[in-house]
Amino acid sequence: MTFILLTLFPELCAAVLGESILSRAAAAGHIRTDIRGIRQYSTDRHRRVDDYPFGGGGGMLMTAQPLKAAVDAVTRDYGKKPHTIYLSPKGRVFSQEIAKELLQYESLCFLCGHYEGVDQRAIDLLVDEELSIGDFVLTGGELPALCIVDAVARMVPGVLAGEESYQNESIYSGLLEYPQYTRPAVFEGIPVPEVLRQGNHGEIARWQRREALRITAERRPDLLRQAPITEEERRWLESLGFVL
Ligand code: SAM
Repeated sequence: MTFILLTLFPELCAAVLGESILSRAAAAGHIRTDIRGIRQYSTDRHRRVDDYPFGGGGGMLMTAQPLKAAVDAVTRDYGKKPHTIYLSPKGRVFSQEIAKELLQYESLCFLCGHYEGVDQRAIDLLVDEELSIGDFVLTGGELPALCIVDAVARMVPGVLAGEESYQNESIYSGLLEYPQYTRPAVFEGIPVPEVLRQGNHGEIARWQRREALRITAERRPDLLRQAPITEEERRWLESLGFVL
């Protein structure tokens, strides 16, 4: 799967994608990243990429021309226009479900805004969908794009050791994950729960499931309402005082 990032700050994106799991996944050929500076596509003689908004208002807007030229170049290079996403606080709020939806595409192109955003005509002409990473405003679309690349890429076969690496995790499984511990067995006087040290796999699985249910009921009852839980688990949670 190919992730194309169109940005005014290519070094920022390269720094993140050049580290850790995603960098190794790219080196192994499981994913491909293509980071392009938008400025190189500007036909302005000073390579300007922004201008004042019509109608006034503070700040600058990214102009449509370099964005259109960048997406056209990507389309030429890949022989087909990739699914193109504009990062925007006005977009659909990103989630694990949307990450799964995005996995179906061979390539994704992320258009990272900056300043006050981009000329609406670039969005109308080029963008297939707008995604937000939450109800807050950042200075640019690079961090949201990198969050989405990371969330999608880790589900591409080969990037993690196995599907269970992400399927058992918070949100994907429908619940928040149970607490985990590693060595030492006692740290600052706090012991690892006894059940995890006794090697009884049935008991461990039961403890993990119950902890996941308890934490989800405490922190995200909204998730629990959708999660596939048994009648017995429901009764157990109610016995702890949770109202489901
Ligand atoms: N004027 C815009 C508005 O009110 O909707 C906000 C522009 S913001 C300062 C600059 C850029 O950051 C946006 O064009 C977008 O690409 C990115 N951005 C900011 N917050 C975001 C969020 N929550 N999710 C995704 N992208 C975001």
